[in-house]
Amino acid sequence: MAKTKILVIEDEPDLLEVIQYNLERDGHKVIACRNGEQGLSRIRTDNPDLVILDLMLPGIDGVEVCRRVKGDPVTRGIPVIMVTAKAEESDIVLGLGLGADDYIGKPFRPRELVARVQVVLRRGPVREATNSPERVVRGALSIDLLRHEVRVEDVPVTLTPTEMRLLHFLASHPGRVFPRAHLLSRVIGENAVVTDRNIDVHVRALRQKLGDHSQCIETVRGVGYRLREDGP
Ligand code: CA
Repeated sequence: MAKTKILVIEDEPDLLEVIQYNLERDGHKVIACRNGEQGLSRIRTDNPDLVILDLMLPGIDGVEVCRRVKGDPVTRGIPVIMVTAKAEESDIVLGLGLGADDYIGKPFRPRELVARVQVVLRRGPVREATNSPERVVRGALSIDLLRHEVRVEDVPVTLTPTEMRLLHFLASHPGRVFPRAHLLSRVIGENAVVTDRNIDVHVRALRQKLGDHSQCIETVRGVGYRLREDGP
């Protein structure tokens, strides 16, 4: 089997070495880059299966790298895991809004990063939400947009159209964290005159209707929401 190619952009040499060592030990091929510029050019030439991106970089910073990777139709499908310090919470939100697939906070244990990489690789290349099938099944949850039908353990649940779009969107990207603003624009529309917190109201209502399975929608503090990887 061909090795997966993981491109790592990290300007701290020691950390870069630790990441590279652990990923290689897990059987991946690693392309190590020390700055955003080099990273961007290698992403185009080497077409990696995954990018690990430090946000605090000299020159072109991580958020800008993410913007360019996710803004280019050729590279958009490559999953990106951001590596961030706690102080960069607003950058996490920004990065996720730009299409980054996951993030991991510094300091982290190498084992944790390797596990995160495995999860994101298992999901495969990123698909656009608009291409997601009308019918999504995750664990005990099934959503059929065309028939406007949601079932949990085969019991119908009555949702408003907004709640249904929200649940469908989250379930189409299980395990991925989405910032509130991103969910709002996807679920309610770009021009909605609402605040980010408005999404909390819909999530609360949705959880109430999911009853025993409400835990499948997880709150990620300071960032947003995600549907648990394995569904309810
Ligand atoms: Ca850095």
